[in-house]
Amino acid sequence: MPAHGGLKIMAHGIPVRKKDTPYCGYRVIAVGDAACFGDGFTGEGLYNAIKSSIIAADCIKNSLKNSDFSFSDYFKLIEADICRDIKISLMLTKVFYSSVFLFYNLLKKNDNYFHACCRILRGERTYKEIVEKLKFIKF
Ligand SMILES: Cc1cc2nc3c(=O)[nH]c(=O)nc-3n(C[C@H](O)[C@H](O)[C@H](O)COP(=O)(O)OP(=O)(O)OC[C@H]3O[C@@H](n4cnc5c(N)ncnc54)[C@H](O)[C@@H]3O)c2cc1C
Repeated sequence: MPAHGGLKIMAHGIPVRKKDTPYCGYRVIAVGDAACFGDGFTGEGLYNAIKSSIIAADCIKNSLKNSDFSFSDYFKLIEADICRDIKISLMLTKVFYSSVFLFYNLLKKNDNYFHACCRILRGERTYKEIVEKLKFIKF
């Protein structure tokens, strides 16, 4: 009997943005998976889906007040926040998943790395804050 007990295993991709994946334009705003805001490192998408929706709601309110539907405010806010974090997460993904065993041992030995990962997963810290604190990648 196979390890999965004969169950049919299915998978689904998490949309992760590339450098220039668009997420807004004139009269158009995309949030969450539609904007490819999935986190390639953790494989999660809920946090950025909710965060981008909250930012989008504010920008839509502003656009209705100002009759400006370019959504350049949404672009700027997302670039400085979610996109910046995804960029770091993709960098970490490349480093981490190329030497999983090495990092597994590092996480096992050093509580700081493990707790840093937990804080990111809980949304208490951003990738930018953690990376700056650990000082292992320079910007
Ligand atoms: C198997 C699986 C496990 C996951 N596990 C996790 C996890 O543990 N943690 C985590 O953070 N993320 C997880 N994710 C990712 C997470 O579910 C998504 O990133 C998140 O749900 C994206 O939210 P969203 O609102 O952008 O999109 P969705 O949740 O996909 O919502 C889009 C909604 O729009 C509806 N819709 C689509 N087309 C139309 C249309 N034409 N008209 C009207 N409605 C439409 C859809 O039916 C859907 O209800 C998982 C994903 C999968 C597939």
